[in-house]
Amino acid sequence: MGLETNTRQPDLNCIFCKIVKGEIPSKFLLETQDVVAFNDISPQAPTHVLIIPREHVKDISKLSESAEDRALLGTLFQQAAELALKLKLENGFRLVVNTGDEGGQTVHHLHLHLIGGRQMVWPPG
Ligand code: 5GP
Ligand code: ZN
Repeated sequence: MGLETNTRQPDLNCIFCKIVKGEIPSKFLLETQDVVAFNDISPQAPTHVLIIPREHVKDISKLSESAEDRALLGTLFQQAAELALKLKLENGFRLVVNTGDEGGQTVHHLHLHLIGGRQMVWPPG
């Protein structure tokens, strides 16, 4: 993990912060103290959900080695796996974390894509 400390400053211009705050109305598929999940606006498969921390973390490289950040990472993945089963993706699914410009990240608020409902191919584009 990166050495940069995650300051978790809310970003007023961040679209996902606005979704978390309810400023952009969204149907949450999951809400916990730390994370929320909602459908991607431009689904790439029959199921395409985004699981995000409530707090503004720019990307996965901005997490520290603190217990808090480790717990957040664990929660993101655990909640994604639970949600996958709730959404009947028992035959398989894909979790993706695009990071930085070359990683294809377009929204700079950490998020886990949960994608499923069709056969995935490798390598991804
Ligand atoms: P990235 O490319 O950063 O990994 O993924 C960002 C994702 O956020 C994209 O799949 C995009 O479709 C989705 N997205 C962008 N803006 C919105 C929005 O306003 N609402 C929702 N639900 N998804 C969004
Ligand atoms: Zn944000």
